[in-house]
Amino acid sequence: MRVLYAVMIDSHCHLADAQFVDDLDAVLTRAKKARVDQMITIADSIAEAEACVQIAEKHSHIFCTIGVHPHNAKEWKRGDAKTLQEMASGSRKVRAIGEIGLDYHYDHSPRSDQRAVFLEQLTLSRELGLPAVVHCREAVKDIETIIREVEPLQVVMHCCTEKWEDVTWMIELGHFLSFTGIATYPSSHDIRETIKQCPLEQMMIETDSPYLAPVPHRGKRNEPAYVVEVAKIIAEIKGVSVAEVDSATTKNAIEFFGLSF
Ligand SMILES: [Zn+2]
Ligand SMILES: [Zn+2]
Repeated sequence: MRVLYAVMIDSHCHLADAQFVDDLDAVLTRAKKARVDQMITIADSIAEAEACVQIAEKHSHIFCTIGVHPHNAKEWKRGDAKTLQEMASGSRKVRAIGEIGLDYHYDHSPRSDQRAVFLEQLTLSRELGLPAVVHCREAVKDIETIIREVEPLQVVMHCCTEKWEDVTWMIELGHFLSFTGIATYPSSHDIRETIKQCPLEQMMIETDSPYLAPVPHRGKRNEPAYVVEVAKIIAEIKGVSVAEVDSATTKNAIEFFGLSF
């Protein structure tokens, strides 16, 4: 029997971001009012990973990831893998390695550094028995090569903006695609087609806040309370109810991040 969840999970937000420093409590109160019951706060550096663990330790309904974003790959040091390993074993709130991956759009770090740091962290996730949250921008071929090589436990490609034919391998391998408010932007034809094709059983929703606010909040700071807008656009695209999208994506996030209710 299908369990219907009456709550939502924001599977990817950056609560340790400087934009939330002044009013995080108010942000969390609005999330609660909007029925966003649990959140995964995502790290992009070793320093942010420490901040994410602190936030998660403080709030029972917040969990976190630890990892170094491809933008910051050039800052990766020997010993960082050990630091991540210690953080993972030091807190029960750490539920995945991320966000890790490749970003060939901005190229903030040399691509060779990005690949090496992604490979090392993806391998670490496997060794630690944790899933991985992967960031992919204009790098889907290399992401595929590395995932096929490492064979990680489970991966979610977050903020998926890829064409369906470029990510069908993710679904075939049993992994997940996660979508943001970008799907609500009028020009996002490819994303909407990918959403149409992606089975609900392998889909998650996220805000990626404070970035990428969905319509009708576009242009403002994004926050977890707005994740319902992502559920709404997916429901519209797939011709199903918002409750069905909510229920499926909540179930997926619970299983992926090992959450409970
Ligand atoms: Zn990302
Ligand atoms: Zn992110």
